[in-house]
Amino acid sequence: MKITKIEAMVLRYQYEEGIADAQNYFSTRNAVIVRVMTDEGIEGIGEAACFGGPPETTKYVIENELQPLYVGEDPTNIEHIWKKAFDRTRQHGRGGIIMPCMSGIDIALWDILGKKAGMPVYKLLGGYSDTLEPYASSGFYTRSKDTEAIAAEVESYYKEGFNYAKIKVGRNPEVFLNPLPNMPFTEECRYTLEQDLERVEACAAVAKKYGKKLMVDANNCWTTYTAIQMGKKFQEMGVFWLEEPLHLDNIEGSIELAHALDMPVSGYESEGGGLYRFRDLITRHAVDIVQPDVIWTGGFTECKKIANLAHAHNMPCLPHVFSSAVSLAANAHFLASIPNQGILEYDRNVYPLRDELLVEPISIAEDRLVHLPQKPGLGIELNEETVKKYRVC
Ligand SMILES: [Mg+2]
Repeated sequence: MKITKIEAMVLRYQYEEGIADAQNYFSTRNAVIVRVMTDEGIEGIGEAACFGGPPETTKYVIENELQPLYVGEDPTNIEHIWKKAFDRTRQHGRGGIIMPCMSGIDIALWDILGKKAGMPVYKLLGGYSDTLEPYASSGFYTRSKDTEAIAAEVESYYKEGFNYAKIKVGRNPEVFLNPLPNMPFTEECRYTLEQDLERVEACAAVAKKYGKKLMVDANNCWTTYTAIQMGKKFQEMGVFWLEEPLHLDNIEGSIELAHALDMPVSGYESEGGGLYRFRDLITRHAVDIVQPDVIWTGGFTECKKIANLAHAHNMPCLPHVFSSAVSLAANAHFLASIPNQGILEYDRNVYPLRDELLVEPISIAEDRLVHLPQKPGLGIELNEETVKKYRVC
């Protein structure tokens, strides 16, 4: 079998009211869906992360820079192809935009392998569990959401049956070195550290009332001392984990933080540098919970190695999931394949590209679990009506 063509398409959803984390403001959400074609007529689907940049650029890199390296290769020689692309883009890649583009293609290659073998991807990767417990990931800042509203939102997830919910913190202009002033929509949804403590306290009280867990996510905006100060208060409130509190390059700070807190520090989804960068986070104990994303940091091929390394250090590996249904399916297959697993991030923001992109969506069953698709490959099929509705190029 040979790869004949690689295509990427950009889908975009426009929010009526934007949502914000500590540094990003989403008035739209974009997904880059990758299709890999073969001479046997088997087609693979993947997704490439495009956070922080124009998705059109991601599409361009996949089709113009990477496609020539893959066409003509046997799509089942996945390790060989991965290393070839990594080596050939060395001076231009090792992270940045290249790794997410390679991720999207890698996911599609595993989808092809699964379709050829007649097995679901998570089984090909080793198969650890057939179901996953989802956690409600939301609690973004919006213009209209005050402390009472965020607490009510969290309560709605617990009432619905989620045992875990995660909210955003960290959009605090008062923190030195904060990237926020340089980000788009910097004036939107600004909060003081004191207000963040109030929000978390209100949500933690709800979690306690229901006997459930609350996590907080600071999206890389705090200094080491801010994260230690806030983290100590959060852990007194019973917060279950503190996610991505520090700048990506502040590994020394993350080591100090992880040692200063009893509460686990989790991260770093935005580390698109693959195994070598995660090696430093893991072996130096800069995190307690490891959170790669298969659409961002090298696909299944690289994330499986990251998970294995985390396992060797007795750390859970719980992927980041915040994009279309293809990303949800891929990360679910990854999580279901590893033994050092846990809960599945399940975005609760309004997002039709998660709910309507597949003919059979990855949804929560009556038993409150996500059941892995049993069809070959990722076991998914794009809903072409939805593609048509949201496709921009
Ligand atoms: Mg996160």
